[in-house]
Amino acid sequence: MDVDVLIAGAGGAGYPAAFRLSKAGFSVIMADPKGELGGNCLYQGCVPSKTVRELTQMIKRAKLLNTNIDVNFQLIQNHKDKVQETRFKQHKSELSETHVEFIKGEVEIVDNHNAIIKGDKDLNVRAKYIILATGSEPFRPKFPGENLCITSDDLYKYKSPIRELPKEMVIIGGGYIAFEAATMFNILGTKVHVLVRSDKILRGIDSKLSSTLLSLMDKNIDIRFNSPVLEVKKNSKSLDVIFSHNGNKELLTADQVLLATGRSPVYPKGIEKTEVKTDRKGIIVDNSIITSVNNIFAPGDINGISMFFHSAVRQSLVAAHNIMSGGTPIDYMDFNSVPKTIFTFPPIAYIGITPDIAKKNGIEIVEASYPFAKDSRAQMYEETEGEIRLFFEKTSLRLIGGWIIGIDAPSLINEIGIAMANGLTARQIADYADQHPMTNEGVSYAARSIF
Ligand code: ADP
Repeated sequence: MDVDVLIAGAGGAGYPAAFRLSKAGFSVIMADPKGELGGNCLYQGCVPSKTVRELTQMIKRAKLLNTNIDVNFQLIQNHKDKVQETRFKQHKSELSETHVEFIKGEVEIVDNHNAIIKGDKDLNVRAKYIILATGSEPFRPKFPGENLCITSDDLYKYKSPIRELPKEMVIIGGGYIAFEAATMFNILGTKVHVLVRSDKILRGIDSKLSSTLLSLMDKNIDIRFNSPVLEVKKNSKSLDVIFSHNGNKELLTADQVLLATGRSPVYPKGIEKTEVKTDRKGIIVDNSIITSVNNIFAPGDINGISMFFHSAVRQSLVAAHNIMSGGTPIDYMDFNSVPKTIFTFPPIAYIGITPDIAKKNGIEIVEASYPFAKDSRAQMYEETEGEIRLFFEKTSLRLIGGWIIGIDAPSLINEIGIAMANGLTARQIADYADQHPMTNEGVSYAARSIF
């Protein structure tokens, strides 16, 4: 079969390009062994985990009414499955409105232009362009008993067999998945221990942001630093986790052990038969999303630059536009303007240049902040810890970064992001009448504070 574009993977990096290219008249064939659109994000990642998080938020807020909700994890997981089903159906109907040929199967690469889709039967495809959008999977470090641990995929996957709330959970890892799960299960009533290998959490984010988050997390969460795991073993009823601490062997017991030690790229079989180059993070692309082979594109998690669904969607569209222009780049990904949220309790979100990056690069900044202690909506929920903080370039007063610690961080970051991506200045942000009584008010309030 001859096509214009073959797309391996139907997640956020795959289907937006498929739809755009098909609308523009290109013949597109897309394959994914899941047989559903939405990728890992919908099947076992962001959508299901954030569904559980939203219900946890409701449980937490119900305490304002002196109501202690009996947590029924089975019901929570049922609701999560229902949301996933709704979105699978929605994607099916979106797909039916296009001319994209979608096949349930795995793409195996033959060379720079040829591949086999291994589905019910093998299909040989020759394509002018190939989009590799095969995403990522949880990284599993090797230690004895690693196979006894679950990952976030097991917890959140569609029809997950985990329907009972763990009484005690050990989480291995110090990144965002570890702390999102730790703070959430802590509210649901699980006794949570986190084993962090080093003395830092959330590496790669601004040091003040991570230290503030650490200081605001519930002290019931037992965080052990410098505690690498040595072994996980079955005992009569649960699991023993043996780890080292200050040269001693220590032990924790739990009914679930969650491995949250990062994600690694998933390469399709046969990738070595192309001249696509990879590094430690994934497939090497530039900001036009073209790989080292000029007819092969690699948007999304597979390039490891910015492993978020919303980043993958925009990268997918960049790839589509550059295919539409015949492979000469006309569209570029602005990786700096991708908002990032860590959905902990409290959540944090950030974008662009933060003080650590500014210092490292010799950029002079002006900071402006708004504490949630002053905010009416934060007061309504008694969630007054944290702040909105904006970073302006000193001479132009253009917004170059920002963060939110606390209430509504995942949605507030978008107002800051769109202002930053469009080069707004402190004056322009200060002059905007943000909706009252919403936390957005803090964005213009902060900007006003510097005049
Ligand atoms: P992204 O956000 O970058 O799209 P995801 O991990 O959400 O990444 O989605 C990647 C999708 O690619 C998954 O649905 C996975 O099933 C699919 N996939 C993985 N390997 C292959 C392959 N060899 N052929 C086709 N699809 C694949």
